[in-house]
Amino acid sequence: MTKQTKFIGAHVSTRKGYSGAAKMALSIQASAFQYFPMNPRRLSTKQVNVHDAQACAQLCQENGLVSIGHAPYPLNPAADEVERDLMVSILKSGLEITDACGSVGLVVHFGKYIGKDPLQGYKNIIQCLNSATQGYEGSAVILLENQAGEGSQLGLTMEEMVQVRKLCEHPDKVGFCLDTCHAFASGLWQGHNWRDLESKGLQLDYLPHLKAVHLNDSLHPYGSKRDRHANIGSGFIGLAHFKEFLESPYLNHMPIVLETASGTDGTHLKEIALVKSLIQDP
Ligand SMILES: [Zn+2]
Repeated sequence: MTKQTKFIGAHVSTRKGYSGAAKMALSIQASAFQYFPMNPRRLSTKQVNVHDAQACAQLCQENGLVSIGHAPYPLNPAADEVERDLMVSILKSGLEITDACGSVGLVVHFGKYIGKDPLQGYKNIIQCLNSATQGYEGSAVILLENQAGEGSQLGLTMEEMVQVRKLCEHPDKVGFCLDTCHAFASGLWQGHNWRDLESKGLQLDYLPHLKAVHLNDSLHPYGSKRDRHANIGSGFIGLAHFKEFLESPYLNHMPIVLETASGTDGTHLKEIALVKSLIQDP
């Protein structure tokens, strides 16, 4: 039997705690999952329930599960200095929880900047990441997620991700999460050219720091700059392109999670099975 290389799963609820999220993942035949470490709609820190987090970490270890946390939606590392302390406290809190849960990292949207000088947006992100990782010694890292280009033009390319990471004081605490819908909508990935992106990603030093994937089809066509996820095979990317993508050796051993609508049974059981069927040795 070949050793498992692809870890497929979905975003799951923490209604029954972090350990409940891990159990949910197991019940839908997932080997990876994503969860919200804290309230996804608010910018408020959360006291980690150590007991629950440890139970989650243990379940993952015993069952070969890998996981990522997703930071709250309003979190914006590109926000100006007046909001810096708030953003940093959320990042620190999120990192602490994901680390306690034994997760690979905390997924953070690259950030939106609406001011006149886009360079200031990048500077803000670097400052925010520097402060959030200062003195942090856990093994979960911040995972910058590429954006679709809706509302803001920041964080659409590999070049930006790599450059921001390089300019951080603690680049070892920063990695990347690739969202396939965002990559398609932003114009980064045409669907048929994953091999080209592999060579580019290696050349730029993006792929060695890719630690997670958000596996989503796109409701809108290539380059639309619209962030609307579709179920795998029901959008403009299509099954053939996902098959080619999923066979990439650069996606081995990392959480690959669906952020799509759940099936009629209220779970991602069927969609996970579909994704696994696209891979030769899941
Ligand atoms: Zn995503």
